[in-house]
Amino acid sequence: MPSRFLSGPNFRMTYHTPVLLKEVVNQLAPRRGGLYVDCTVGGGGHAREILRACGPEGRLVGLDWDEQAIAASRERLSEFGARVQLVRANYVELERVLMSLGVTTVDGILFDLGVSSRQFDAPERGFSFQREGPLDMRMSRQLGATARDVLRTASLEELAKIFCIYGEEKRARAIAREIVNERQHVPVETTTQLARLIERVLGPKRGPTHPATRVFQALRIAVNNELGNLQRGLEVATGFLKSNGRLAVISFHSLEDRIVKQFFVEQSSGCICPPGLPACACGRRKVLRVVTRKPLTPGEGEVRANPRARSAKLRVAEKL
Ligand code: SAH
Repeated sequence: MPSRFLSGPNFRMTYHTPVLLKEVVNQLAPRRGGLYVDCTVGGGGHAREILRACGPEGRLVGLDWDEQAIAASRERLSEFGARVQLVRANYVELERVLMSLGVTTVDGILFDLGVSSRQFDAPERGFSFQREGPLDMRMSRQLGATARDVLRTASLEELAKIFCIYGEEKRARAIAREIVNERQHVPVETTTQLARLIERVLGPKRGPTHPATRVFQALRIAVNNELGNLQRGLEVATGFLKSNGRLAVISFHSLEDRIVKQFFVEQSSGCICPPGLPACACGRRKVLRVVTRKPLTPGEGEVRANPRARSAKLRVAEKL
């Protein structure tokens, strides 16, 4: 796979293979002349199909906080000219971005969470324990602290909490202790060094997942404040949707999916005051209608062709 990623005729196609592509387009059902926002434009795979579906006049605003993603999608989407506007920004800044473009409401919004294959496969980004590289893990260079900084400065307690909460790692404390021991002798700086350290604590790979998977996920979430961003991003995005406009979110692990599901439940249930109050005191109104009671997941064919799709879940809600 790596060689296909780095060169050859498929280069433009394999920056990242979009997940649940047909499902996303079906659910957003882009209308001709509509305006759509892709909050995580990545290599532009989803954006391209949305632009095709809302042509010839529909528009798309694409955000990504990784400068390389913006460069890649700019090239990939060049055929659409002024119909597409790409902005390097964290999606929690969606309001500022849309205001600066004079946009007040939109017809549909997509979040495709996590890292792209390009980010994951680039050794220098430090996301993968299978590739030797610095423990960076920042999705954007605008972020200050890298994973290495976290491993250098966080206390044993803080590390254990990160691994436990963001990685759901049972042996979080034992791994944190090993890191604190190790860093008294040598700094923990590279991906394979950390993977070996985790293997020392958990033993070598036995099941289908490598023992380092959960700790790497946890560090990535912490470095990029992924869960905090998601919660805020969903709130801001919902505010910009037109009535009947749709919000589509693809998540890749249970922590993300829980936030999306919970957000949809909250926004789709009205007043929660106890019965018998003379007037509503909670002020909660129904804002969204949940379209997908159960999340949509990729079929066997998609997972076979793109194993990274296997944990994807698509949830969709519609603005009332
Ligand atoms: N749908 C895209 C792939 C998206 S991969 C495609 O078809 O190509 C996820 C992307 O989200 C990555 O490029 C990552 O940099 C970006 N991302 C993650 N968190 C973000 C955030 N808070 N703000 C903006 N972009 C973010």
